[in-house]
Amino acid sequence: MGKLNEIKCPNCGSSLNVDSDKLNDFIKCEYCGSSFEYEPSKQLSDVEIERLKTEQARLASENFDKILNRQNEMFNSPQIKLFRIIFLVIFITVFAFILFNMIKIMGRF
Ligand SMILES: [Zn+2]
Repeated sequence: MGKLNEIKCPNCGSSLNVDSDKLNDFIKCEYCGSSFEYEPSKQLSDVEIERLKTEQARLASENFDKILNRQNEMFNSPQIKLFRIIFLVIFITVFAFILFNMIKIMGRF
C-alpha cells in the first residue's frame, strides 16, 4: 500500500483519498459515482471547484423551479378548469334536484 493522494473528482469536485498504487487505474468517485482517469494536469483548482459547485446548486434549484412550474401548469390547465366547472354544474344540479323534491314532498302536507 502506497501513500494516500488527495485527488479531486473532475465531475463533482469532491476530494478523494486515493492510494498511490491505484492512481494508474480508473478511480471511482464515492460521492457522485463517476469513474475517471487520474491526470495530474487535469486536476481542478479550488476556484474551478467552487464554480462547479455553484453551477450544480444553480442547476438543482433551476430543476426544482421547473418541476414546481410544471405542477402549477398542470393544476391550472384548461382541462382541469373544465373539469372543475363540470363538477360544479353537476353538484348544483343534484342539489337543486334534491331541494326541488323536498319542497314537493313538504307541499303534500
Ligand atoms: Zn465525484
